[in-house]
Amino acid sequence: MISIDEKGYYGKFGGAYIPELLHPCVEELRLNYEKIMTQPDFQEEFHHLLRDYVGRPTPLYFAKRYSEHFKANIYFKREDLCHTGAHKVNNTIGQILVAQRLNKKRIIAETGAGQHGVATATVCALMGIECIVYMGEKDIERQAPNVKRMKMLGAEVRPAMSGSRTLKDATNEAIRDWINNPSDTHYIIGSVVGPHPYPEMVARFQSVISEEMKKQLLEKTGKANPDAIIACVGGGSNAAGAFYHYLNDEDVRLIAVEAAGLGVHSGETAATSAIGTEGVIHGSRTLLMQTQDGQIVEPYSISAGLDYPGIGPLHAHLISSGRAEAISITDKEALDAAFFLSRTEGIIPALESAHAFAAMNHLDYNEGDTIVINLSGRGDKDLAAYTQALD
Ligand SMILES: *Cc1c(COP(=O)(O)O)cnc(C)c1O
Repeated sequence: MISIDEKGYYGKFGGAYIPELLHPCVEELRLNYEKIMTQPDFQEEFHHLLRDYVGRPTPLYFAKRYSEHFKANIYFKREDLCHTGAHKVNNTIGQILVAQRLNKKRIIAETGAGQHGVATATVCALMGIECIVYMGEKDIERQAPNVKRMKMLGAEVRPAMSGSRTLKDATNEAIRDWINNPSDTHYIIGSVVGPHPYPEMVARFQSVISEEMKKQLLEKTGKANPDAIIACVGGGSNAAGAFYHYLNDEDVRLIAVEAAGLGVHSGETAATSAIGTEGVIHGSRTLLMQTQDGQIVEPYSISAGLDYPGIGPLHAHLISSGRAEAISITDKEALDAAFFLSRTEGIIPALESAHAFAAMNHLDYNEGDTIVINLSGRGDKDLAAYTQALD
């Protein structure tokens, strides 16, 4: 059985490694999140918004030409059709409803590429709640379109000017803000990372993906379980959502796809489970890329959403226990897969999702297997990278 224990551990991974000053904030959430999430009025509002605002259920699409090419029955779970263009909004809707029930008046978030910042600014606009997004100064320059979206949605984007002026510096600023504003502020974390209860709470909000998948597969094929599910892993929230209701169905292979960047051993990579070791990052014990004396190694991937030096504790547990299989995909393979998918099915995937599609070339499966690929987001945001690859 795969489940989380009282203290927030999946096996030996997880927990809450936080500064004492942050303890009251995290503890308030830990003591209340489960009660809030299971209340009927919460469930009703959450599902109402997922349906009418996000556009759920997202289709489970049988990809005919893609299936013929790979000689398997391949379905795409269309998270790219969610409002805002990816799965991230499933989680931000859930968390803003929790924040409201904890009487929070102010939302903070940190963002690297800006996708989570946009998903957070979106739900704050929806609810009329103040939104502050911390973002590294360097990322603000690199991700101008998402910065403009956040501002359009009424969020304040605060630059993090210290250190490398990227994601981890933005995270430090957000934590400092939370410590200073414990009573009226909720911190929306964007993936299945961070101290307990975040990884489990986010996984449960995203688990709507596999809940729908089970019903849709049963309807379409007469069987609720596929032979394999493939999803890309940055922190791991879309994968956690796609795996969640299959975790204890041992007949379903779970394939977690990481970004190899220029190659697993190139020094320019984000293949955490391949080269990572145990340690603590962003408040939980997990696998991360670090030097022998525990310094975090800068990750690299062409895909901003996978460019993260750690992996959520659930995935560290699934991979190290053998329940999930990890595959790493280079930038080049992801680009090729994005072009192939665009021209075979007329769907331009996010660069992150393209890694999951590229895994088909590495997976050993039997002809005729049923395989679901989680299409975590659409590729509009990545057109510049795609265009550059064409030249
Ligand atoms: C952010 C993002 C990811 C990576 O985040 P996870 O938490 O690992 O899901 C993957 N795909 C898309 C489209 C994203 O925007």
